[in-house]
Amino acid sequence: MVASPSDTAAVTESITVTRCAVPVETRAPSGETNAYVLGEAPAVLVDPAARTDALDELVANRTIEHIVVTHTHPDHVGAVTAYADETDATVWARRSHLDRFEAVTGFTPHREFGPDTTIRLDDTVLRILDAPGHAPDHVALECGRNGPILCGDCAISEGSVVVGAPEGDMRAYVTTLRRLWAQNPPALYPGHGPTIDAPRETLERLLEHRAQRERRVLAAVEDGATTLAAILDSAYEKNLTGVRDLARATVRAHLQKLDAEGALEWDADRGDTRVGW
Ligand SMILES: [Zn+2]
Repeated sequence: MVASPSDTAAVTESITVTRCAVPVETRAPSGETNAYVLGEAPAVLVDPAARTDALDELVANRTIEHIVVTHTHPDHVGAVTAYADETDATVWARRSHLDRFEAVTGFTPHREFGPDTTIRLDDTVLRILDAPGHAPDHVALECGRNGPILCGDCAISEGSVVVGAPEGDMRAYVTTLRRLWAQNPPALYPGHGPTIDAPRETLERLLEHRAQRERRVLAAVEDGATTLAAILDSAYEKNLTGVRDLARATVRAHLQKLDAEGALEWDADRGDTRVGW
């Protein structure tokens, strides 16, 4: 399927959400990251993953006053500097993660945000929501009060996102999914793939996917698997060629969560585990 490079996805409370899919080096199945432009004049550029003609054109047609990223994975930030130079926009970064932002983008941010920071856009606001789990600095962006949410790599319409230790935190991720479910936005705009029009359905699917995997990890340990490799083989049935490293990191994240919750003991340094009691 060839996605159109740029399409206006929705208008809500006077924030226009325009998606521009950008080809990038990513392990997301689409091979693309969604950059978004919110509003028109002023406008916010979100996740400029790479520079393309289509994104150049979109940026040229709007008054970009702010640049924000949902998190600092390389497949979301590749053109921050290019578009910052091009537009003179205010570049924002997540408080307490400024070094990480600078290291990945090579750009010193002008301003910092935290959960509940708002950015004014005409007669409504963009609100920053804390959304850790996939990455420690991950945020989501609420477009207008109770409006749709740009959710970065918290959710995806098909399949699942990577939540792998040490970068990912499964407990935080599950909390983030539950928070988004409770907020019940009209739509989610993800970092990869198409718009999620039925957010609760997708969030429930993603929560169930994690719960299922967690049950299998726990069952593997209870059945006597003590090493990461043994747990991995028992918790995954499918052929893991090419994604074994991701599956391994995911199992680690599940083990950390189960350990934190007292379901088992996981020694991350030794890489082994046993049922706690
Ligand atoms: Zn990511």
